[in-house]
Amino acid sequence: MDVQARIEQFRKMANDDPNNELGHFSLGRAYLDGGNYDGAIAAFQRALDINANLSKAYQSMAFCLLRLEKKDLAIEQLTRGVKVANDRGEMMPKNEMIAMLKELGAPVPDLSKAQANVPVSEGQVLCSRCGQVGPKLPSPPFRNKQGQLIQDKVCQPCWKEWMAMGTKVINELRLPLADPAAQRIFDQHMMEFLNLAGTP
Ligand SMILES: [Zn+2]
Repeated sequence: MDVQARIEQFRKMANDDPNNELGHFSLGRAYLDGGNYDGAIAAFQRALDINANLSKAYQSMAFCLLRLEKKDLAIEQLTRGVKVANDRGEMMPKNEMIAMLKELGAPVPDLSKAQANVPVSEGQVLCSRCGQVGPKLPSPPFRNKQGQLIQDKVCQPCWKEWMAMGTKVINELRLPLADPAAQRIFDQHMMEFLNLAGTP
């Protein structure tokens, strides 16, 4: 179906059922595909007015705002979107929006704040991956800043999980780790898995 037909279809859906956020969201996507970014932004805003938890709508709206060179407004939407996606445990839109913020040179919201009051004793960490207080790694897994960050922010069970997952990542992506580019991809997967992506 061509873009114009989709726009007509979703416009009808949004008009017939104005409280259905998906009609507005789909209309926004159709406008976006057709290059009508102003129309898309308005439709995504309508969808968010109905349901502020629609994390994909923040992301799509930010994409349109960037096309219109409205960088500050895009950053605003992404910042909101990251928080919503985080609260809802939606890893993919969250990570994608964090990546967009970083690409724009904008700060990534601190997502650990909500748990800042959990008491953590010696030998324990408040784990960024599982959100629980757990045993700390006895030493940093790498002799660099990243290794220190992992020791400070990741519990032992989650680190073990990554060790198993990391092997799969290497095998599935066929990463030759001697290659610095492959090493970067591997590190990126690791930081995303550990929920440390976006931590400076
Ligand atoms: Zn953990």
